[in-house]
Amino acid sequence: MTIKNEYNTTILSSYKIFKEINKLTDIKSLEPILFDEVSRARNNISVPDYVFKNIQEGIFSKSDNFRNMLNNSLSSLASPLYTRNNFIYVQNNKFHIWQDTINKVSPLIIISYFIYKKNLSEEYIEKFQYSSLPSIYNKKLNNILKKNEIIDTHIHLNGTTEADIIWQDILQTPQAFIKDVDEGLLKDEVKEQYLALDMELGTAGISKMIYDTIKIRNDFDAYASHSIRSEIKFLISIFKKINLDKKCSDTMKLWEYILVYNFIYQLLVQQNKQVGFDQFQKITFNNIRENVERASYKERYKQVKSIYGDNVIIEGRFAPKDTPEKMIKLLDNILHNNENIHLIAHFIKAKDKQSSDEINTYRDMPLRLDLDKRSRLLITLMNKTPKYKKHIKAVDGAANELHARAEVFAPSFRFLRQNNIENFTFHGGEDFIDIVSGIRYVYEIAKFLRFRNGDRIGHATALGINPKLWKERIGKGSLYIKQGEYLDNLVFIYHIAKVDKKKIKLISRLKNKIQRLCYKIYNESLDIYLLEQAWLMRKEDPKNVLKWDDGHCEEFYKYPEESINIFTKYHSNQKTIEAYNEKIKIKIDLISNKDILYLQNTIIEKLNKKNIIIETMISSNVRISFYKSYNEHHIKKWLGLTKEKNPPKPILSIATDNPGIFATNMRNELSHLYLLLLKTKMCEEDIFKIINNLLKNNVDYRF
Ligand SMILES: [Zn+2]
Repeated sequence: MTIKNEYNTTILSSYKIFKEINKLTDIKSLEPILFDEVSRARNNISVPDYVFKNIQEGIFSKSDNFRNMLNNSLSSLASPLYTRNNFIYVQNNKFHIWQDTINKVSPLIIISYFIYKKNLSEEYIEKFQYSSLPSIYNKKLNNILKKNEIIDTHIHLNGTTEADIIWQDILQTPQAFIKDVDEGLLKDEVKEQYLALDMELGTAGISKMIYDTIKIRNDFDAYASHSIRSEIKFLISIFKKINLDKKCSDTMKLWEYILVYNFIYQLLVQQNKQVGFDQFQKITFNNIRENVERASYKERYKQVKSIYGDNVIIEGRFAPKDTPEKMIKLLDNILHNNENIHLIAHFIKAKDKQSSDEINTYRDMPLRLDLDKRSRLLITLMNKTPKYKKHIKAVDGAANELHARAEVFAPSFRFLRQNNIENFTFHGGEDFIDIVSGIRYVYEIAKFLRFRNGDRIGHATALGINPKLWKERIGKGSLYIKQGEYLDNLVFIYHIAKVDKKKIKLISRLKNKIQRLCYKIYNESLDIYLLEQAWLMRKEDPKNVLKWDDGHCEEFYKYPEESINIFTKYHSNQKTIEAYNEKIKIKIDLISNKDILYLQNTIIEKLNKKNIIIETMISSNVRISFYKSYNEHHIKKWLGLTKEKNPPKPILSIATDNPGIFATNMRNELSHLYLLLLKTKMCEEDIFKIINNLLKNNVDYRF
């Protein structure tokens, strides 16, 4: 984000300004707060103070009062917008800046200002019925999106609703919102999220803030109704009013309204400074979307078509419930008013809450039992109700991959496959402690969950991210990792590279390390082959291997006894589990960039051989992963557009993930891709070959 944008968005969204707003006497009194806020937001970027000061001086020299300042900020943020054929669009070269802006400030507010300033007709407002996200204009893209069936292959139904729609709901039913916030605040992760945005508020503080804001809105216009369009009309009328009457008190009220709007907005949209899946999960945990997203789904089906009416069809993902009543209620709600929807049941990964001395059974037992229960329930309901069977096309494992690996899902997925679930997908390689852990995660999905032709993997960023860039972003040349996880990674590298003559040196370098770690964790010295077998054995159900239940026993007799022994220790030996979990510091250079690339490409080749597809989601990765801009995204590598000679290209589908949280939709994802490819100096024709190819994959590999 440019510093100027940082200033303008801060003026409209800072909690500190909100807190001090009643003490501000004149524009000069704002200067120190603003300087503080902006330099703090940019503290990881080394820019000398005078750069800030010059920009700040520029802002203040144009504004001698708060009204002018608000006008100038909004006008500057609206500058990427323009009109064409009665629609509002974003200029191509400003689309990335725009995307950064709308992570902090609601697009609805900026659009309203743009319509007010340009004095545009009602016709423009009418377009914003279900969404407030404008896009770039490209004739060909426009035609493709309208004429062809566009499948969104990876979209979580909860996480889809745009923040501007949720704001309307908060204004309409504040009591439900306060109740949900209150429940959200019981979670530590959510408290952290509020603090990260400098909101040291409890429920009472948020409640007061919302009711004060509703009062401001009512004082301006007691009859304003609740929809995107009516909010635009409401804001336009207020912009008119403050600039006509020029009453300072009205300006301050509008400013307060916008500030509250935007920091609720920031609780709903992934912020640029929030890196990693933990940060993303705080947004999904804070409950603020709950009230809208549990009520009705039909608006979301219209929202995904964007303001331009695209022909988007979704494969919506939902979390299977743990009782028949809850599951039926959820499914009937989702299927209401949508005959075309394909559904994917995403089971949720969860941390093993048992501490090592409590594991007197086996690892991840609570999650394993829960998955078993939900899978059985899902199958029972699908067998009983043809409607569910018709719509539910596949199964997925979602949420934080640092909490559970594919092995935990292996027995349930086997059960689901035996019970006629035909298609599978699984989130992985999206967020990782070590890049090798991420690459291994993807491999384990395919291997342990026995993925077949047409199955898919969500994200797999670990197979795409440039190793050099990853190491730079990790910084310091080292990282902390559980020594058991590290051993698993080394065994995995051995497993992949052992057959390759060019990798003999790498293997011999790893052997000593593997031996040492093996002794530290399992208290015995073992041949690497036996460790490898013990790791491969993790796809088996520990319940059977450890004889807690006598299921299909014959399956694991094929493993060597020593490996079964290691598997048993891994699952149930307290000392082993403690040693496994002990953190060690490792040098990230031990595995060279070349060797990481080798692992990435080898796994891509293996996926290609089986026709396993990677679902890629550019905005989601740019926000959650190590990237700072769209231009760094690995899709260029995957399409063979980097300097690397003849890299294997994975089979890709393209999707949105959580359109509400990343402020995007299919049109905007394709627009980002289009602009990214344009930067490589490709011609329009070649770019559309790629786009059409991806969209064809979305159709061809549809579940
Ligand atoms: Zn996802």
